[in-house]
Amino acid sequence: MRGCAWDRVALQRQVAERLGAAVASGRVAHAYLFVGPAGSGTLAMAQAFACALVCDDQGCGACPACAQVWSWSHPDVFRLKPEGAAGYTVDQARELVREVGLRPVWGARKVYVLEDADRLGHAAANALLKTLEEPPASAVLVLLARSYEAVVPTVASRCQVVRFAPVPEQDAVAVLVERTGASPQEARASLAAAGGVLARAEALLRSPSSLAARSLAFDLLKRLPYLDAYDVLLAAKDLLEAVRAPLEDLKAAHAAELAERQEFLGKEASTSDIEKRHKRELTARERESIAVLLGAVSSWIRDALVVGAGREDLVANADAADAIEEVAYAMTPAAAVRALKAVEAARRRVSYNVSPQLAIEAMLFDLQEVLKCPR
Ligand SMILES: [Zn+2]
Repeated sequence: MRGCAWDRVALQRQVAERLGAAVASGRVAHAYLFVGPAGSGTLAMAQAFACALVCDDQGCGACPACAQVWSWSHPDVFRLKPEGAAGYTVDQARELVREVGLRPVWGARKVYVLEDADRLGHAAANALLKTLEEPPASAVLVLLARSYEAVVPTVASRCQVVRFAPVPEQDAVAVLVERTGASPQEARASLAAAGGVLARAEALLRSPSSLAARSLAFDLLKRLPYLDAYDVLLAAKDLLEAVRAPLEDLKAAHAAELAERQEFLGKEASTSDIEKRHKRELTARERESIAVLLGAVSSWIRDALVVGAGREDLVANADAADAIEEVAYAMTPAAAVRALKAVEAARRRVSYNVSPQLAIEAMLFDLQEVLKCPR
């Protein structure tokens, strides 16, 4: 298997070898369905595969094309997520069909990565079927899903299925320690916040502002029972600001891209297409950032639950062990489940386009109630 791009997905060696062999022999299918549980690395594998497809050297991992694939800025590699409350919209599917028909910008191939393919409903799926069946020779579609059964059968049956085994936690921790220089303890805490998703945990460990948001949330959980309603609202605002801080880099990159375009085409040129894309990217990154924060809060509550059951060895957030222990002694399992449900409700609300501010406020009030009276 050639190319260092595959090094990043070493935890799924068999899958990497299978896909690498397909690229090397020129026998690449036009549509794949990657199926694996959270944390099994389907998204990172899709990126490594895209590298192998668009890089001149089958995914060298070092050239500009490979670097652009990893930062999702390659002009021939696309990442799609559901844009409607109920999943992928028919408009999204039609836009994809149109886009697939265009020629690649740089090379011979275009790669489309569709996350959450289980949220591709019948209507959107129908708009896509013909493209899935016989896309132009240049296009490769890679659909990602947690389970095969959750994907509309007409879609699943038109893809080559690649199954991913779950990655043992200690293997993921070892990789994170090696890549980021974090301690095993920090790596475990990040994995817990990231819901087991390796790339997300790595991004968290590398982002001081994201780590600061996590610390702020843990500090708030400790103080929450003693705050009045007004303070809770202020805390929600602070928390959201902390969650948005890591987005500043992306905003700066967007401003630079816009300035460059205007310099090239003149001030009067339309930039609405770029601005629309920027807005989508920002929303996606904000949701990602909120997901990590909510993941951290869930893992804190889960820690209290396992400590209460006498399993201190299973605690993921060792840096917050004191506060967790204090809560654990008072909290019943039923109360912990109520708290976890409050976090889950916030996650759902954000995914249904409720304002993040409102979602976090509601969650904090619910958590406060549980932590005040943890019976
Ligand atoms: Zn390369």
